Amino acid sequence: MRDGLAPPGFIVCRETAAPIGDVRGAEDGELAQAHEAALRSRKPPVGDRASLLDVKIEMARRALQDCRLCPHECGVDRTAGGRGFCGVGPRAQIGAQMVHLGELPDLVPAYSVFLSGCTMRCVYCRKPDLLERPEEGEVLEPAAFAREVEEGAARGARTLKLLGGTPEPSVHALLQALRQLRTPLPLVWESTMFIAPQCLRLLRGVVDLFVANVRYGNDTCARELSGIDRYVTPAMEALREVSRWSDVTLRHLILPGHVECCTMPLAAMLEELLPDVELVLLDQYRPFWRAFEHPTLSRRLSDDERGAAIEAVSARKRLWRLSDLT
Ligand code: SF4
Repeated sequence: MRDGLAPPGFIVCRETAAPIGDVRGAEDGELAQAHEAALRSRKPPVGDRASLLDVKIEMARRALQDCRLCPHECGVDRTAGGRGFCGVGPRAQIGAQMVHLGELPDLVPAYSVFLSGCTMRCVYCRKPDLLERPEEGEVLEPAAFAREVEEGAARGARTLKLLGGTPEPSVHALLQALRQLRTPLPLVWESTMFIAPQCLRLLRGVVDLFVANVRYGNDTCARELSGIDRYVTPAMEALREVSRWSDVTLRHLILPGHVECCTMPLAAMLEELLPDVELVLLDQYRPFWRAFEHPTLSRRLSDDERGAAIEAVSARKRLWRLSDLT
């Protein structure tokens, strides 16, 4: 992640001028051009000119009208109350937020925000309320949310960590909140990396670190266990893209009965894609939610499976370690 002296990405985006006059009145093409030009130039704003962050906020607002923020590409108009696979409507909602210590050591204390809604339906989900009832969370009001984050920073949080569910469906509200956030906390985006290019474009320059929870080594398991038609290609493409402009931490929860079909092929793919990025293997799987409906997932990881996963990963990936932190 950026060192302590460099400003977080959202601050840089807020302080970068976008070459466009009227953000709200601009055509989509003009907006996209201004976005790319601002990302390249990184010129500070002059007077009351729009910033790169303003352009991102407007692009995100428009994206909701035909939502394709994740590979489901539902195409629903969320501004009119439509809800797609993720269940998130026009507003983002929060299931829980707290200063959190049980984290990767570099990130703690983190101000962790669990956004409602998810683009996957993992049968072993530890927070199924976020995906079953996304409309029940606290509505994210940008100004109030920014104040809560600042209070979290005053209590010692060193990073702002956005997770869920998954944070992608809430990107529009999060960008608005970042416009108001005064405390320069590095932004950590935790995701399964099931993210579409449209959303990645909004996150570019804003996110300082992706914590990528890579799930499956093939689409059959993704379909069976997370209810999505395809996972591997979009996730690997998203990883390739974000690694061009953000720091990345790779994590993989070893699933019982899925070492050969998921952990092993993932190790091979990640070795090729990101050979110099450490892979954190998580071995603390416990059955939650609907895991008991799946014979292999209704138990904990065996010692043999843990050993096989470690052997497979250490043979392929130069950098890896085992962790029980979530
Ligand atoms: S973010 Fe939600 S509504 Fe948008 S494409 Fe993904 S699942 Fe569908």
